[in-house]
Amino acid sequence: MNIVSTIKEVRDAVAAWRKEGLTVGLVPTMGFLHEGHQSLIQKAVEENDRVVVSVFVNPTQFGPNEDFEAYPRDLDKDAALCESTGAHLIFHPEPEEMYPDGFCSYINMTELTGALCGKTRPIHFKGVCTVVGKLFNIVTPDKAYFGEKDAQQLAVIRRMVKDLNFGLTIVGCPIIREEDGLAKSSRNTYLNADERKAALVLSKAIFHGKEMVENGEKCADKILNEMKAIINAEPLARIDYVEMVNMDTMDNIDTVAGTTLCAMAVYIGKTRLIDNFIVEM
Ligand code: AMP
Repeated sequence: MNIVSTIKEVRDAVAAWRKEGLTVGLVPTMGFLHEGHQSLIQKAVEENDRVVVSVFVNPTQFGPNEDFEAYPRDLDKDAALCESTGAHLIFHPEPEEMYPDGFCSYINMTELTGALCGKTRPIHFKGVCTVVGKLFNIVTPDKAYFGEKDAQQLAVIRRMVKDLNFGLTIVGCPIIREEDGLAKSSRNTYLNADERKAALVLSKAIFHGKEMVENGEKCADKILNEMKAIINAEPLARIDYVEMVNMDTMDNIDTVAGTTLCAMAVYIGKTRLIDNFIVEM
């Protein structure tokens, strides 16, 4: 497995693979990899001849008061995980490689991105779409892998690929959780012992909401109110949002129907965590 930091090195590697007629999968990440990322890499390895993992903490998707500087980084550990999972190339560019002086072209989606996380993170998806669009153009993969953990991101990327005719397939992968239910996240590392315990209210509320839907409840307000009550019972938790939306449009729904996303963002102390469940009716 190789680790490269320039766009040219990625292009050269992919060109050599293409000459041999090999297929290429891409797993975009911000690094500090865990079993959630690993499940995406695993699936990419199963479905493609060659797999590129990008490890890039993308500055343009962080707001001015967010955790860009503090975001955890450990390339050696990431490389070991990628290698043991069967990835072939890590692309680890410096911000200047992706955004050289004079950079001024962004992908700005006008729907889907103002809902849910877009309300508190107004520039987030512009940064995500721009960096993912760039990665698609640099790697030109046949397939790219994204986690349902970031369900709005997955919906946004699917729409971007459709609208802008990127010639690849997007593969969504299920949320990987800790044994006690907490969704795995690089940001879990910010939690102290008390916060780690308190963070369980997210998955507790998610499992409760999912069970209500499975038991036939269709009224979004009823489900959301019970979920919010579980979270509000925890003193260290502060709700950013808990909402039910149509998975394709991100529009709020009153009644569970079609493909529904029930998503939440909750502050545990200063750490903002997200979780969700998706139901097909
Ligand atoms: P990140 O490094 O947080 O930007 O995540 C990179 C990719 O891994 C995204 O597509 C995430 O949705 C996915 N991912 C992160 N955590 C998980 C998880 N617990 N389960 C499944 N996928 C995940």
